[in-house]
Amino acid sequence: MSDHLITSLTNDTVKAVRALHMRKERETTGRFLAEGLKFIGEALDQGRAPVMLLVGQDARPHPILEQAKVETRKAGGQIITVTHAILEKISRRDNPQTVLGVFEQVYTPLEDIQPDSKPVWVALEQVRDPGNLGTIIRTADSAGCGGVILIGDCVDPYSVEAVRATMGSVFAVSITKASREEFVKWCKGWKGSIIGTRLDATHGYRDSPVQHPAIILMGNEQAGLTDELAATCDVNVKIPMRGRADSLNLAVATGIMVYSITDAAYGSGL
Ligand code: SAM
Repeated sequence: MSDHLITSLTNDTVKAVRALHMRKERETTGRFLAEGLKFIGEALDQGRAPVMLLVGQDARPHPILEQAKVETRKAGGQIITVTHAILEKISRRDNPQTVLGVFEQVYTPLEDIQPDSKPVWVALEQVRDPGNLGTIIRTADSAGCGGVILIGDCVDPYSVEAVRATMGSVFAVSITKASREEFVKWCKGWKGSIIGTRLDATHGYRDSPVQHPAIILMGNEQAGLTDELAATCDVNVKIPMRGRADSLNLAVATGIMVYSITDAAYGSGL
């Protein structure tokens, strides 16, 4: 399809892209929105071309933008030039990125996970905050984890807020969805350690021997890790709380756990 210019805020394509802020629309279309050249560059590096590339009239020439146009055309996607007002409307920001991409969502089925491909995997039970989830996806990527498994009723990893918080790692980390029952059943075939995190645990987070590949299991922001999932773990551990706070933020706790367990596999050097 050839490039064209849209100037009307009520254009159907603009409405369809704006609707990707809604979970229902993302679920129906299987698509999501990623904003900015950094994200689009990460996607291209992972062989993922946008199904639609929206380029602001004031976008400056950039090698990533040129590559994105080539890859979008090659994949049969649309390239649309839009006004600044449309970019503001779509991104719901006064200072929007000048390039936006609409991409297909990708999920790795539980049974397709290759445990030995990476030493550590992260599983999250009912994570509710999009900023936490995006930050965890970014952290899992940074630390060299295989992927993130979302258990039960979790926030959508492809929400605009979660995607922004990933800083592009959404394209690099495998994401899997599972019910609690599916996850518990699948864990029975896991040959490495399954490590739960609980505030009532009696083991310190560095105290237990770890067998890789390991799964780190993190709980919900309010309720913590359920008894049912804690019971599937080989060990439940706690990060020391030495001050007045009774718990760490979920994403921070995940970061500490993930680096502790990946360092044991990769070493702690650069
Ligand atoms: N009130 C909740 C509870 O009792 O578990 C607090 C949940 S905490 C904000 C969210 C998740 O972060 C927990 O389920 C756990 O996975 C992890 N977490 C937070 N602080 C932790 C700590 N000190 N040790 C181990 N895990 C922790």
